[in-house]
Amino acid sequence: MKEKTDLNLSISFHGAVARTTGSAHLIKAGKKSILLDCGMIQGIPHHHNKRISFDPTTIDSVVLSHAHIDHSGRIPLLFQRGFEGSVYCTPATKDLVRILLLDAVKISKIDARKEQKSGKKVSLKPLYDEEDVYNALKHFVTVPYHNTESIENHVNLKFIDAGHILGSAQPILDFDGTIIAFTGDLGQNDTPIIKNPDPIEKAHYLLTESTYGNRIHPQLEKARNLLYKYVQHVTKEGGKLIIPSFTIGRTQLLIYFLNEIYEKEIVDKTPVYIDSPMAIDATKIYLKHPECFDKETLKLLKSGDNPLRFPELKFSKSHRESRNILTGWETCVVFAGSGMCTGGRILSHLINELPTRKSVILFVGYQAKGTLGRKIVDGAEKVEIYEKNVIIRSKVKMIRGFSAHADKLELKKHIAKIKKKPWKTFVIHGEADQSLTFAADLRNTMGIWARVPEYRKEYHLRSA
Ligand SMILES: [Zn+2]
Repeated sequence: MKEKTDLNLSISFHGAVARTTGSAHLIKAGKKSILLDCGMIQGIPHHHNKRISFDPTTIDSVVLSHAHIDHSGRIPLLFQRGFEGSVYCTPATKDLVRILLLDAVKISKIDARKEQKSGKKVSLKPLYDEEDVYNALKHFVTVPYHNTESIENHVNLKFIDAGHILGSAQPILDFDGTIIAFTGDLGQNDTPIIKNPDPIEKAHYLLTESTYGNRIHPQLEKARNLLYKYVQHVTKEGGKLIIPSFTIGRTQLLIYFLNEIYEKEIVDKTPVYIDSPMAIDATKIYLKHPECFDKETLKLLKSGDNPLRFPELKFSKSHRESRNILTGWETCVVFAGSGMCTGGRILSHLINELPTRKSVILFVGYQAKGTLGRKIVDGAEKVEIYEKNVIIRSKVKMIRGFSAHADKLELKKHIAKIKKKPWKTFVIHGEADQSLTFAADLRNTMGIWARVPEYRKEYHLRSA
């Protein structure tokens, strides 16, 4: 019999511990180091992301679960600081990550200028520039879903669907028979457009997200009905319906629902503006990747009905078009990023519409602590945007059911599908209360070893 090498496995967590951003988890297997994600921490000044709690020159490979910036945003920094390996991801993730990283350069430049203006002694240099992004992209290696790729000696990688956004995956790493599975960001079942999450068949060690580890979502149908209600409200009362939206994932999902209600003539048809060059590019990338679509969406496309297009839907790419929407008086629905209002065109819309009683600001996704979006959702009476005091008189609403994350019940069902209980489950990617409650729930109701790991502590893992 062939002797098994003891790989001397260990794992440490360098982000997204008791918080939802900055995903970065380091697996060591003997002399090899594999990094799962390398995301930006959001809700803090951008330049604070320069601090990386491990040495990038010691990393051999990066495995990227999906394109969102809180999972991918610090990858160019790794290359800047001497990382020379490959970044493995799905083909759709590679296409999306390009536009997200280039956008991060823009945000970083604005942030650096802002910090300088405020008199703080920080460097005017952004985290990285366009050249760093293009250089990083040269090292991306795509692995389609369900293919097995040998990424290092004794290390195989397979991506299975995560159902979170286009191209999102749950990386399954096989170290000579010891399996470490990572849920990545796990989507909800039966979300339109993309496929449902695949079940994890086997895992000795599991890394599970817990964004909603202590919350049960209202049904998607309820969320959809609320969306109709707010569209109808501005159509009748006037004002604008402003939707701060994650340009990738949520925007396409809401376009899909608006297409449905407009086709069925459930509401009066008000113009819908996608005021985001990035969302426009992302929507094009969606249409390039039918391999990620569910059966219903494929059927619609085949019949000639593109669910991501309808006559009232208008894309605004240039600044002039954006200004026209801003200064116009017409009732309309506006989607703009960023989703947590940390930058982007949404800020100008908020300056205009937050003080307007008739308008509705509608949040459709998770708002991390410290972000402007969170302050507004939490009921602030006024906020500061671009050094202006903005009074809030508009309606502020939140629809939770559109979440791109599974809730507590779906997460538990997902874990229950693994054929044998994992030896250890690390509960990550959630604010402290969500993660701690979820870990306790897994221990108490499923008899699973589950803990919220300590930031940067190294956990030794035994081999199978
Ligand atoms: Zn995500």
